[in-house]
Amino acid sequence: MSNYQSLLRELPAVDSLLREPFLADLLKRLPRRVVLQAAQDTIASYRQTITGYADADENIPENIDLSPATLAIEVAALAEKNAGSNLKALINATGIIIHTNLGRAPLPGTAVKALNSIAANYNNLEFSLQSGKRGSRHEHLEELICELCGTEAAIVLNNNAGAVFLALNAVASGREVVVSRGQLVEIGGSFRIPDIMAASGAALVEVGTTNKTYLRDYEAAVNENTAAFLKVHASNYHMVGFTSEVKTVELADLAYQHGLLLIEDLGSGVILDLEKYGLPFEPRVQDSVAAGADLVTFSGDKMLGGPQAGIIVGRKDIISGIRTNQLARTLRVDKFTIAALEATLRLYLDEEKAIDEIPVWRMLTADVESLKHRAHKLAEGLSDIFGTDPVSVVKSVSRVGGGALPAAELPTYLAAVKLPEEDLHPTELIDRLRHTNPPVILRLQQDTLLFDPRTVFENQEATLVETVRKAYQG
Ligand SMILES: *Cc1c(COP(=O)(O)O)cnc(C)c1O
Repeated sequence: MSNYQSLLRELPAVDSLLREPFLADLLKRLPRRVVLQAAQDTIASYRQTITGYADADENIPENIDLSPATLAIEVAALAEKNAGSNLKALINATGIIIHTNLGRAPLPGTAVKALNSIAANYNNLEFSLQSGKRGSRHEHLEELICELCGTEAAIVLNNNAGAVFLALNAVASGREVVVSRGQLVEIGGSFRIPDIMAASGAALVEVGTTNKTYLRDYEAAVNENTAAFLKVHASNYHMVGFTSEVKTVELADLAYQHGLLLIEDLGSGVILDLEKYGLPFEPRVQDSVAAGADLVTFSGDKMLGGPQAGIIVGRKDIISGIRTNQLARTLRVDKFTIAALEATLRLYLDEEKAIDEIPVWRMLTADVESLKHRAHKLAEGLSDIFGTDPVSVVKSVSRVGGGALPAAELPTYLAAVKLPEEDLHPTELIDRLRHTNPPVILRLQQDTLLFDPRTVFENQEATLVETVRKAYQG
């Protein structure tokens, strides 16, 4: 017992630990309170270890080193970790392009530049440089969006969930909105169409069945209290077999005949022709507008490839109403979003530029031969760490993610690592890779680590390999 007690007495006091020369530089660089907390936590953790041995009546390992110099090294590591940002840039090797947990779309360089400049300076957010009078934050984006989407008005809000909510609140509060049962979807856990409708004050009228809804189902639901039809992109699920949904153009016609509105929530919001790039068909925003939808809503940070935002396009009179709605202020976008979205949208004025410079589109259209080449290059780097036996290149698929094209499989090649049984367990390596700087997120399939080059930027490849090396070597 006395052995434990003497060890506890051997633990340095916080003050003397902080006087260790090893921590001198750190104390100049980091806030004192951060280093102090790390020292307290380190000592407490050793105390707990020692009393743990005592409680279990186990022998303490002979080589336990409680010298201040050794503890100082741990204090420094802990302080550095605690002083680092919680929100960090990381390497996405999952091959899921629009990964909601990983921040969705990385921004194009021009958007980052715009952000930088607007963030660090005053700007004309609500000031008209033309008249010298007060301006509106909504003016910076509207013309550009209208041109790209072939529509007469647009408003940008905080996100698409907010856009759907506000559109419903503005046009259908206290009235009925008709939705197909096949489209009452949940997206990302917290966005459920029935809940959003309830919160907006619109009464949901469900029609049709899960797999089939016909035009006559919508028509039968219309009464004097009906305000609109809502069509929702199923986004993150895909039905196969006997299914039937009503086309936007038919629903728009029916809405028009009855003096109702058609709202279409497209979710992802594509404005390029996907089939042109060998990808599955997706309705474009301008197609829904041309088909007669009165309002179309979509996200800024899914297939559009820009910052988080919810965009509503459509009829001028309705959008003016939305703009002056009391709740618009609660969902308004800030100057950063406007700056990044404007820069992203400007790239779409030249389709080639959009494909080239918007990361989401570069990844979506990456050609399989270049992915194969990059997978081999990655595998080469990984062989240098693990030896050649555990490393291979395998054919597989990448996913779009983010509730867009759920059934689409984009052919790719992966660098694969299957460690021998006696080596480090793959889940341990995955855990370690979440704590590296930068963290690396990847796929694990049947004990094989899989790296998809599609979502790794070319200038991250060397860092990726070096980070894996450090994680593996502990
Ligand atoms: C993703 C999605 C939303 C939510 O958009 P956020 O921008 O994440 O708020 C709403 N509707 C559909 C159909 C979606 O796919």
